[in-house]
Amino acid sequence: MAHTYSVCRKCESVNKVDSDRALAKAPTCGKCGENLPMHGLVTEVNAVGLQKLIAKSDQPVVADFWASWCGPCRSYAPQFEQASLKNRNAVFVKVDTEANPSVSQQLGIRGIPTTLFFKNGREQSRQSGVLPEAMIGEMLRPLV
Ligand SMILES: [Zn+2]
Repeated sequence: MAHTYSVCRKCESVNKVDSDRALAKAPTCGKCGENLPMHGLVTEVNAVGLQKLIAKSDQPVVADFWASWCGPCRSYAPQFEQASLKNRNAVFVKVDTEANPSVSQQLGIRGIPTTLFFKNGREQSRQSGVLPEAMIGEMLRPLV
């Protein structure tokens, strides 16, 4: 059974979420009952949530760094969502760089969208620009 992770906005617990169940019904936090910030299989995380999730995940984590004012970021979103549905052996997250200004500096992100691939708590690779869905799968292959 495929699973993913989401971090609760209210209590900051990292929740392990069954992927099929998450697609059928909006998942809630196992600790406090708050709705988890998930769209399909893509989870929104803040800077703290990203670090927690990367530390806890037993799967590679694919993180899209974006902002609402960025046109290419918005056109990337559907492809990123598609990739999350096709690669259920990875965790897909989105980080709003406007709401989390420190995160870009911390990770040395110069432009958006940029996609970072993490495994075992560490960055493995990154690619800037809008990535075709198939390319996300290719970049994941050595990590799964
Ligand atoms: Zn919670």
